[in-house]
Amino acid sequence: MANPLYDRLFAPLAARPHCLILADGTAIGGAAFLAMVHRAANALRARGVVAGDRIAAQVAKTPEALALYGATVATGAVFLPLNTAYTPAEVDYFVGDATPRLLLADPGKADALAPIAAKHGAAIMTLDAAGRGGFRDICDAQDDAIAVASRGVDDLAALLYTSGTTGRSKGAMLSHGNLLSNAETLAREWRFGADDVLLHALPIFHTHGLFVASNVSLIAGATMRFLPGFDLDAILRLLPQSTVLMGVPTFYTRLLDDARFDRDLVAGMRLFVSGSAPLLAETHVAFEARTGHRILERYGMTETNMNTSNPYDGDRRAGTVGRALPGVDVRVVDPESGTSLAAGETGMVEVRGPNVFKGYWNLPEKTRDEFRDDGFFVTGDLGVLADDGYLTLVGRQKDLIITGGFNVYPKEVELLLDEQPGVLESAVIGVPHPDFGEAVVAVLVPQPGATLDLAAIDAVLREHLARYKQPKALEILPELPRNTMGKVQKNLLRERFATRFA
Ligand code: ATP
Ligand code: MG
Repeated sequence: MANPLYDRLFAPLAARPHCLILADGTAIGGAAFLAMVHRAANALRARGVVAGDRIAAQVAKTPEALALYGATVATGAVFLPLNTAYTPAEVDYFVGDATPRLLLADPGKADALAPIAAKHGAAIMTLDAAGRGGFRDICDAQDDAIAVASRGVDDLAALLYTSGTTGRSKGAMLSHGNLLSNAETLAREWRFGADDVLLHALPIFHTHGLFVASNVSLIAGATMRFLPGFDLDAILRLLPQSTVLMGVPTFYTRLLDDARFDRDLVAGMRLFVSGSAPLLAETHVAFEARTGHRILERYGMTETNMNTSNPYDGDRRAGTVGRALPGVDVRVVDPESGTSLAAGETGMVEVRGPNVFKGYWNLPEKTRDEFRDDGFFVTGDLGVLADDGYLTLVGRQKDLIITGGFNVYPKEVELLLDEQPGVLESAVIGVPHPDFGEAVVAVLVPQPGATLDLAAIDAVLREHLARYKQPKALEILPELPRNTMGKVQKNLLRERFATRFA
């Protein structure tokens, strides 16, 4: 009986000496972790879980939580991890939408979540940050042997909700084939092997930490140094014992902010990967100057896994997300007509391949709207392809500013602003304007201790940008609002400055 994801990611653990090393140095070998997966699978079955059931989990990052993912796959169920920052009211939405059979929760939240689970027909069980709780107790009473559920490549393995950066989170239905194909491709492209030690500091409720980081390590037989979260001191301590780090851009800016982070510390590292949000070219350059390493930036989304990557060998081009991965088609089209644009022209990024999801859960119309007839998925990201296939993202379509009938791509203005003296970072947004429909507003974050010369910045903008692209207001904030994956929440900025020209 076949189970594509279990067979390739989990079954081989039986013969592997290494799998996880925890923050305190505790090592969990392959066979031991596989036994955890099996006991958790038997525990799920003991609670009545059958193939196709959704298993929701709003729990801390622990080996038990990762084993729950494996167990869900092994029983043919569908894994639904939830951001630990979500409030009970938010969890209510996800549980109501996905109607899981089980909701795993931290004991501290169980009281608040119990009525929500009950309302939607889910049983609730606990799992805490030490991997203990009611669910673990049931696991401990189970046998290590299991009968793995038979699944096909098109059967669902996960229901992952998008980050909610541009609106309400949507449930992306991901199949065994979607996840497996991407894990195989990335492990090959990034040269993952059994000798690798991945410093795993990302959350496992998001595609980056769960699928990119964990699936790639599992399929390659690499070891994961499994940290509960991003802890600068722990990362600095463990870098000399690791070979790969995967992070969001803020990981890299925080490391660069620390003088202990230097070339010697990363002498044994072979790869730094960045994604989930744009990495500033400036960070790329500063990182290379400090360490001698060029960060490898890649681009993906919850719905598609990874689509493009800078090369392992070859030119890792700062400010770009690299080329289409093998087996993935990437094109840039005119958003209205859907016709392909020439290299150098900016338009909608569309992708097609075995990595692209099966559709949005409970949203058949939205699914239809976001797919072209020839199978391409409309990402919502705007970008431009170079002659040699490198993709540069210029922002999301929802963040595109239309002012007086002209399109302004925020990234173009942001890049210029970021170069100005004293500017740490910037976000350019459109807000309602009585004459222009929308007006360009630039939000600037000064470097620590810097005072911005707004008149000088304005003069540079006037010199370099067409009039319609010039911000009608420059606003200063101590920091940009970001979600847990380091994504700038432009919707919050738009709300904040909504009445600027009212
Ligand atoms: P929602 O779809 O709910 O609004 P979201 O799109 O932020 O939220 P995710 O699926 O977590 O949810 O993020 C995917 C998005 O992240 C991509 O569409 C893209 O805009 C952005 N992204 C990912 N990698 C990169 C990158 N390397 N550079 C720039 N943006 C990136
Ligand atoms: Mg999205």
